Amino acid sequence: MKLIRSFIRDGDTTTVNGKVRVPPGTVTVGTPPKYLCFEGDPVDCPDCKTTGVTRCIPPFRPYTGPDGRQVNLDGDLCICACASPPRLKALFDSMWMEFEKHEVAAMAGSSGWLAYAGHQQAISRFDQFFVAHDKQTRQPVSGFSYGLKTTALEHHDTLYDDGATAKAYAEDAQNLVLTYLVQTSMGIRP
Ligand SMILES: [Zn+2]
Repeated sequence: MKLIRSFIRDGDTTTVNGKVRVPPGTVTVGTPPKYLCFEGDPVDCPDCKTTGVTRCIPPFRPYTGPDGRQVNLDGDLCICACASPPRLKALFDSMWMEFEKHEVAAMAGSSGWLAYAGHQQAISRFDQFFVAHDKQTRQPVSGFSYGLKTTALEHHDTLYDDGATAKAYAEDAQNLVLTYLVQTSMGIRP
């Protein structure tokens, strides 16, 4: 799965229904053509009733306009008088930057965007799971139901055929506890 961020253009909006106003003179894209938005371009914010400016946040790759400013992407910030900066929302999805998961994991400061875009789990730095084995045969077992518990999660499920539980993901190291393991059916292995 690739992670995608669309380019921001003039007239695009924000999470509080603001409006990006790119001054004429930069690159245009799309049909009808609209100016691409670059870091520092103005945004009208209806929430705090001021004019903010756009700010780029990771992950991004260098892509600059004629004056050297970095292009804005969906999920970038509107720095205005709001206590919590609204995020830019692209209305145009025909031009984007795409990233591999491992690439984003290596780009420092990406966690804010990942959380916003719902991808946090996709590249969390820590994952953990258990595999249940039969004590005598040492073969993985199946057909057991189990419970998993971390600080943030309590998960109940049935073991996969290879004896593994689901994976628990987290941004930091946590204790993963197998709260119970109960046989619910006979697992038959080839
Ligand atoms: Zn605002």
